[in-house]
Amino acid sequence: MNHCKTLACRNFGLSDKKYYLLQVTDPSRPELVCRECGAFPPLLNNSALLEELNRSKEQDSASLAACSNQACPSCNKPVLTHRELYHAFGYSGERQRYRCKHCQSTFVDKWSNANPKLDIQQKLLGLVFTGHAVREICRKLAINPKTFYDHLDQIALRCRNKLATVDARFVQMCNSTPMASTLAPLQPSSKNGVNWLATGDAKHGYVFQQSLNYAADEMPPDDSNDTIAKRSRLMPNAFDTQIEANVATPKDLLERVNTKYSEVLSRKNVEDPYTKPIDVTYPSTGSLIRPQYTTYAHFLRIAESTIDWDSITLYLPQEPLLRSAIVSVFKDRMEERTCHPIYVEQNANWIEPNSSETVDIVLLSWWRDRWAFTKIGVGSKGICHLGRETNNERYWLEKASTEQLEDYQSRFHLCFKSVIDEPRRRRRPGGLLPLLDIYRAWNNLCHQNSDGFTPAQALGLARKPYSLADLLS
Ligand SMILES: [Zn+2]
Ligand SMILES: [Zn+2]
Repeated sequence: MNHCKTLACRNFGLSDKKYYLLQVTDPSRPELVCRECGAFPPLLNNSALLEELNRSKEQDSASLAACSNQACPSCNKPVLTHRELYHAFGYSGERQRYRCKHCQSTFVDKWSNANPKLDIQQKLLGLVFTGHAVREICRKLAINPKTFYDHLDQIALRCRNKLATVDARFVQMCNSTPMASTLAPLQPSSKNGVNWLATGDAKHGYVFQQSLNYAADEMPPDDSNDTIAKRSRLMPNAFDTQIEANVATPKDLLERVNTKYSEVLSRKNVEDPYTKPIDVTYPSTGSLIRPQYTTYAHFLRIAESTIDWDSITLYLPQEPLLRSAIVSVFKDRMEERTCHPIYVEQNANWIEPNSSETVDIVLLSWWRDRWAFTKIGVGSKGICHLGRETNNERYWLEKASTEQLEDYQSRFHLCFKSVIDEPRRRRRPGGLLPLLDIYRAWNNLCHQNSDGFTPAQALGLARKPYSLADLLS
C-alpha cells in the first residue's frame, strides 16, 4: 500500500523504491517522498494491515457455520455463502450437520433450530428499540444486566446469520450500485476515540459493511516512541492535548471545505485524524486501532466482495483517510477508470435541484482537488471527483449523496441514546458491538421508508419487511 497516491503523477500506484526518497532517521521529515510530484504518502505497515483485515473478517464471521480446520482451504468460509464446499450431513438433535468436502470434518449449524428464547428476546429487543435504559429493561423482564448482555450477544449472532444470506444476494444482484461511506464517532458524547465507518447502497441505505477502530480483546501498546509500537496497528494512549481555540463558523460551503483542508494539513499524518492535538479519553478495556488500518481493511473487504462488479462508485465526506484508502485499494480500477470516489459536501439548506443551476469549478488545497459547487437559494452543494473526471459535474452534483448513511448513523445515536450514554459504557465501547450488528440487520431488513419499503426490499433482495420475530427465529 506504499506508493504515490497522486492520481495525475507518473508514480501513482508504483511501489518500487527507486521512485521515492526514503528515510526513517529524522522524525520531523516525511519518511517517503515521491521523486516525481513531491507528495509524501504516510508509510503503512502492510503486515499490520493484513492482521487488521483478518481480525475484521473473523469478527464478522466467527459465529457462522463453517469448516474450522485451520489447515483446510475452506476454513472459515461460511456454509451460507459457500454451499458448494459442503454436504448436508444429517442432524444433531434439531440442528443441521454439515461435512466439509475438502477435509471431511463435520460441524453443526448452531442457528438451524428454532430459537428457544424467541419470546423473551423479542420483548427485550422491542424495549431496546423504544429507547429504554438497560436498568429499566432488566427490571421489566426480571433479569440481571449480565443476562441482558448475554441475550444481546445471542441476538446479534442470529442477526448476523440472517444478514449473511442477504449480503451475498446484494453482492450478486446489485452490480455497480452507487455506494456511500460515512464516518462518525460511535459514542458522540464520550470522546473515547472509537469511530464508526459505514458503507452501503447510497440510494436506499442498505448498509453492507461497518467497521470500528477498536479491538475489545487486545491491549494497547505501552510506549508511542517504541519503534514496534510506532509500526503497530494498535494506538497507544498518547495524544497531544487540545488547546481551546476559537474557530470561526465558516460563512459558506467553500469556506467550510477550505477549513477542513487546513485541519487535515495540521495532522502529522494526513491519514490519521489523531495525529494533531485532540482530547481522547482512552477506553478502559481493549485497544484503539489506528484509523488508517481499519479504513484500508474496510475497503479491502469491499474490494474482495465486489471483484466481479463492472464499476465501483463511492460517495464520501471530504476526508483524505477515506480517499487514500480507496485510491490504494482500488488502484487498478482507478487506472481503468472503473472506480469513482467522490467527495460530497452540502449545507443543511440543500434541496434537490429541479433545474440546471450554474456550476463553479475551483481547484483547492495542496492536492489541487477539483471541486464543483452549485447553489440554489441558500442551499449549496459541492462535489469533487477524486479520479479527476471532468465534464460530468452536473450528473454527480445531482446523484452524489451520503445522506442515507448519515441518517443511518444518526438514527442509531438517537434510538439507543440511553444505552450509548450510560456512564459505565462510555469507556467500555465493547458492549455496543452486538448492538451494531442488530441495528444493521434491523435497518436493512425491518426498517421501512415512508413508502413502506425496507432497503432490502427496495433493492429486490427481500419480498417483504422482516418483523423482529423473523429476525430472531
Ligand atoms: Zn507522485
Ligand atoms: Zn475443511
